Amino acid sequence: MYIQQLIAKLGTEKVSRNETELFRHSHDESPHIPVEPDVVCFPTCREDVKAILEIAKMNQIPVTAFGAGSGLEGQAIPIKKGISMNFENMNKVLDFSPDDMLITVQPGITRMQLNKIINRHGLMFPIDPGADATIGGMVATNASGTTAVRYGSMRDQLLDLEVVVADGTVIHTGTRAKKSSSGYHLTGLFAGSEGTLGIITEITLRLHGIPEHTMMATCTFNTLELCGIAAQSILQSGILVMKMELLDAMSISEVNQYYNYNFPVKHSLFLEFAGSKSAVEEEVKIVAEIMKDLGAEDWQVASDPTKQREIWKARHELCYVFLHQNGIDEVGADVCVPISKVPNLVEYARKLIDESGLKGGIWGHIGDGNFHTLIVFHPKIAEEREIAEGINEKLAIRAIEEGGTCTGEHGVGIGKIKYQEKEHGDALSIMKNIKQLLDPMGLLNPGKIFR
Ligand SMILES: Cc1cc2nc3c(=O)[nH]c(=O)nc-3n(C[C@H](O)[C@H](O)[C@H](O)COP(=O)(O)OP(=O)(O)OC[C@H]3O[C@@H](n4cnc5c(N)ncnc54)[C@H](O)[C@@H]3O)c2cc1C
Repeated sequence: MYIQQLIAKLGTEKVSRNETELFRHSHDESPHIPVEPDVVCFPTCREDVKAILEIAKMNQIPVTAFGAGSGLEGQAIPIKKGISMNFENMNKVLDFSPDDMLITVQPGITRMQLNKIINRHGLMFPIDPGADATIGGMVATNASGTTAVRYGSMRDQLLDLEVVVADGTVIHTGTRAKKSSSGYHLTGLFAGSEGTLGIITEITLRLHGIPEHTMMATCTFNTLELCGIAAQSILQSGILVMKMELLDAMSISEVNQYYNYNFPVKHSLFLEFAGSKSAVEEEVKIVAEIMKDLGAEDWQVASDPTKQREIWKARHELCYVFLHQNGIDEVGADVCVPISKVPNLVEYARKLIDESGLKGGIWGHIGDGNFHTLIVFHPKIAEEREIAEGINEKLAIRAIEEGGTCTGEHGVGIGKIKYQEKEHGDALSIMKNIKQLLDPMGLLNPGKIFR
């Protein structure tokens, strides 16, 4: 009956029960079990979103927002069925002010679409989670990626959000001012809320100038611990690198085989420097010295943009590289700890994988203290899955005990609910009260973040 109400209000072109659409909205890029929604809605404006939420409220139907479905923790899976709300038709630029370095967009625009529009004005939006995610999905997961070491996460890019909360009220969480000390930080609250507190319909982002020159460098170390120490030393030198990534020897070996590269099969750091040409060249020289003092080998510099693009492509597609054989599955961790804790934690992760007998790689945004494990297993061998999940569990718990988090960027979704109590303690009940206040019927993306 509610589906008839949706069709009557929105029109048939914005409401679909087509099998292909139901399947597309049943899963994301995570290994979590797919669940099909009962119906998919394609709003084109705030009023459509309001109407969908009002009908959902009247009929007590769950609503799960869907961006590009690139999430890695099952956030967009409608585990209680109901309505999946897809934003691909809400992908417009609403206001672009190059002089203020600000842009207001609808949530369905993807980061690549956005960059295509602003790059020709000498501006860029640097947050890059690898996938061509939507800006709405990236806000909702507080995404980050290779450039977070310089620019921070999504939360740091937001000036204002327009949000429709569960009862249909439309609020703005900020202003267009670059900073503000006024009121509670609601923007920060909705960022990372995974569609459980409200539906984001407009986003005002700060933009950044495109650096004049970039250079990339790679080097290797004999141990992962040394890679961690090297990362810490670069940060302490005050040089603001653009990217600082770790790839362990196993990941390098997989990349070499898949792309026919010949990187030395050793634990490696991939660095990118950006700024004016002379400053970048000077920074590369200083970091080369620091790395040499720490015993780095195979120091190589690339300033050719094609070469740089190839190398970063290989880095971004690492999880597909591990998954290219048919019939295997993977689980991944996403821990983040203070930088001084990285050397030990990353060694611990490698030891756990080696002892397990399973194949797995370690890589990540080491400059943020954030790294991933990816462990592959045969889905038909239950014991292998258990071992792989056990490793991630041990890592997440150790990260929390070291003063860090179970998820630096992928979010809680379904898979990391079990760590929330340990990580947040009494603060978790305040989060639950906020959820109750904003969504008393529990209709927005139920079953995510909390049980
Ligand atoms: C190969 C690969 C590499 C990745 N690397 C990274 C990485 O380095 N860093 C990183 O952070 N992530 C990474 N990810 C994960 C993923 O890209 C991010 O989580 C991304 O932010 C998800 O955006 P999406 O548009 O795909 O959202 P979806 O997966 O569709 O949805 C994510 C969440 O956002 C909610 N949502 C979507 N739109 C709205 C809205 N308008 N209002 C309210 N809630 C909404 C959904 O309900 C869901 O809870 C990677 C993924 C892949 C496949």
